[in-house]
Formats: sequence, structure tokens, C-alpha cells
Amino acid sequence: MPYQLIDGKNLSTQILNEIAENVGELKKRSEITPGLSVVLVGDDPASDIYVRSKERAALKVGMVVKLIRMPWQSSEDKIIEIVQSLNNDINYHGILVQLPLPDHVDQNRVITSINPLKDVDGLHPFNAGLLAAGEPRFIPATPGGIREILLRTNNDPSGKHVVVIGRSNIVGRPVSNLLSLKGKGGDATVTICHSRTKDLTDICRAADVIIAAIGIPNFVKGDMVSEGVVAIDVGINRVNAPEKKRGYMLVGDIEFESVSRKAAAITPVPGGVGPMTIAMLLSNTLYAADISRHE
Ligand code: NAD
Repeated sequence: MPYQLIDGKNLSTQILNEIAENVGELKKRSEITPGLSVVLVGDDPASDIYVRSKERAALKVGMVVKLIRMPWQSSEDKIIEIVQSLNNDINYHGILVQLPLPDHVDQNRVITSINPLKDVDGLHPFNAGLLAAGEPRFIPATPGGIREILLRTNNDPSGKHVVVIGRSNIVGRPVSNLLSLKGKGGDATVTICHSRTKDLTDICRAADVIIAAIGIPNFVKGDMVSEGVVAIDVGINRVNAPEKKRGYMLVGDIEFESVSRKAAAITPVPGGVGPMTIAMLLSNTLYAADISRHE
């Protein structure tokens, strides 16, 4: 069966163009230029790449960006002090603390120190609670990107059985909440699976849509899915590839080769969910700038 290869890069370009237009309008209407501040602790190369992509995209849509780099040894209190200074800086409407933070830092304490009205990653318990209560304000970027992918590729989740593998606060749990909400982009019947789930294969075979956010390369195989499944691969895993110049390649949590043979639609890695995540972060930043007018 021919499958639909979901081009996340192209979809994200469409969304970024829409955001750029809205940024222009906001500037005209209220003289506000949306500002995104990013705190990066340490020099993890993967985090560095993510942060620079976010910075580039934000500048391209007409936002201002402040990137604060802090050494890996920074104390929790020092990081929180920086976050609090950004909370009070009216030029920056969104604050993003790039995760993961070093082991000596309590990630939850740092996230909770962000003003919930500037929490464009949607990870503050206040915003996670609003989403769970059915009144989302900032939807975490990756789940928001997944919903956009489904809507913009004619794979509306309404009435579908969506199986989410993974229950992290960044992806699995919020995407489960989001897609089960009442209304546009929701109305799915969601099963959330995790490392203790029994009979995972049976559950996956009953899925209309599978969302894999596990962090294990090629975890979901073709024999775990049914014909016509929509497969959304969140995983970004580095695997050794001596034949490549860099010595590694990126693969997802879904085995593309075998699953694509049965899928109606599938996202590639890279080029699927990843680019959408950046677009949705900027959409949240635009929203944060917009609501700052009413504070
Ligand atoms: P995580 O490590 O916080 O969570 C992994 C989840 O997988 C856990 O909930 C765990 O219960 C589940 N799991 C582990 N082993 C399992 C098994 N054998 N069977 C069923 N479930 C199992 O991961 P995360 O932060 O949600 O990230 C998951 C993946 O997505 C990673 O590869 C990460 O790099 C990637 N990611 C990509 C984006 C993006 O923009 N594309 C964003 C965030 C995360």
C-alpha cells in the first residue's frame, strides 16, 4: 500500500509563515515585538543544536531572542535567579529553559520558577493542570506539533483510537490529554502505554494512530501495527553509523522500513515531528506576547 510520507519540514514552514504574518500584525497593532528568552546550561552538543535552531527560527519570523548560556556547574539558585530576572523583563514574553539540566539541579524547581504566563514550553504545573482540566493555555510544543500534523494531513484524530507509547511530562502525557480533549483536534479515544504496560503489541495493533515517544531506536516494528495505521514518530535517537561522515545517524522509535509497509501515513526521522516542535514553540511565544497586552 502506498503511504503518505508526512513532511514536517514543509508543514512547519507553512506555520512559520503564518506566525511571521501575525508577528508583523502584532507589531503594527500594538508595537510589541514578541521576545523569546532561552536559558542553556552546559555545552551538550545536541542541546546546543536545538537551541540554535530555535533562535534562528525565532529571528526569521521577526521575534527578538536572548540566549543566556550558563556553565554546567551553575547552581540551581543561580539558574532560578536568571529565570526570575527574565520573569521581570517586559521585553521577553516567553522563557524556555533547555532540558535536560545537570543532575545536581532540581528540574521541577527551575520550571516552577518560570512565570506561568511566560512558560512557552507549557511545562509549569499550572499550565499542565490547565491542559488536563480541558482549558489549555500553553500546549507543550511537541504535542501541539503532533496535533497540527494530524489536522493538516487530513488525519483528524476525532473518534480514532490513538495509542501513545510513553508517559513523559514533555510528550506522552500532554499529547494524551490534548488529543482526548473535546473539540477540534481532539475527540480521540486515547490509550497511554509505558514501560509497565502488558500486551503492548495487542494494544498497538488496535490503534488507528500510534504516537511513539519512548527513546528506544526502532522500538515499534511492522508486526506490531495494523494495516492503515497513522504512525507518528517522536523519537530522536543517535545510532552508530561508521559509513556516515559524522559516524552516527538519527533514527526514530518506529522502524520506518517495516512500519511504512503497512502505514497509511508516517512521519520520518529527521524531518517529521522535530521541525513542528520549533514552530509550535514560536506559536506559543506569539500567544504569550499577545496576552501580555492585557496584563
Ligand atoms: P522519556 O525518557 O522521558 O520517556 C520515555 C517513556 O517511554 C517513558 O514514559 C517510559 O515509560 C516509556 N517506555 C520506556 N521503555 C518502554 C517500553 N519497553 N515499552 C513501553 N514504553 C516504554 O522520553 P521523552 O522525553 O518523552 O522522549 C522520548 C523520545 O522523544 C526521545 O527519543 C526524545 O529524544 C524524543 N523527543 C523528541 C522531540 C521532538 O521534538 N521530536 C521532543 C521531545 C522528545
